[in-house]
Amino acid sequence: MKKVALVFNGGTISMKIDEKINAAVPGLSGEEILSMVTGADEFADIESYSFSEKPSPHISIEDMFRLSNFINELVNREDIDGVVLTHGTDTLEETAYFLDLTINTEKVIVVTGAMRSSSELGYDGPFNLATSICTAISEEAKGRGVLVCFNGELHCASEVTKANSMALNAFRTPNFGPIGIVDNNQVVFHRKTRKHKTYKLDKIIGDVALIKCVSGMNSDFVEFAIDKGYKGIVIEALGRGNVPPLMLPGIKKALKKEIPVIVVSRCFEGRVREAYGYEGGGKMLKDLGVFFEEDMPGQKARIKLLVVLSSKENLNLNEAFNEV
Ligand code: ASP
Repeated sequence: MKKVALVFNGGTISMKIDEKINAAVPGLSGEEILSMVTGADEFADIESYSFSEKPSPHISIEDMFRLSNFINELVNREDIDGVVLTHGTDTLEETAYFLDLTINTEKVIVVTGAMRSSSELGYDGPFNLATSICTAISEEAKGRGVLVCFNGELHCASEVTKANSMALNAFRTPNFGPIGIVDNNQVVFHRKTRKHKTYKLDKIIGDVALIKCVSGMNSDFVEFAIDKGYKGIVIEALGRGNVPPLMLPGIKKALKKEIPVIVVSRCFEGRVREAYGYEGGGKMLKDLGVFFEEDMPGQKARIKLLVVLSSKENLNLNEAFNEV
């Protein structure tokens, strides 16, 4: 029988409603959650670890780094076939992508959680955990990078985003849809996984700022990020990758100080490209030396830039970010 390591790391999946305040708080141990996944031991030999009880908004980049090291040690163990990590859903995509960028393994790593706490009708934790265990033991799921399993659907950590604040199918892959499903405990994939590089880190170097573009925006926030010492700036630009002209002085200043600037789109779907030649258009940004990251939300581009900048290897932003 295959062995799966279950790493419990907080989120709604391990929460209950505190009746005094009528709001969800941490309160369920890993063992209690696992006991609701009836029959799990017929599928895999399970080893459980309690990593933290944190809700997503308490997860820091340092927590992600510690989790990456912890899971790396697990996948390096010969007796472990796959790992399932629970996580709060609000920042799950960020941690999952961080793990995807920093753990080099063919073994299956699945991240899951719940949209409803154990006190609510329709608690989805046990189902998500059960389907994640099925994925962790699947041969087909190997070598696909970190996967996110929710509502019977599988997504690549590099592609997924939380798109609904309350629905059970909160996780979506823009442009493509899920990469696979778990059908009656069997994992079925619909398409190939995009290849990507992993990076070795010793530590995290500072932070990267994320700025969302709005109409008429000026350079204030870019200047603030420069003054505060951010190591890189991600701009969630307009449409195909354009910014209001008043942001250009700030962007030029950042580039002059060798602070990399990455452009993604604030649109949910589509890609960025240097399609427009007017003042602030993508062509001008590209010519200035801004990098484009084709189809990723800003919060994930931030994780990627932070990982690339913290990497031990020779920094090559050209290689890391798409030459769209
Ligand atoms: N706010 C919770 C968290 O991210 C939501 C969840 O887990 O679904 O920790």
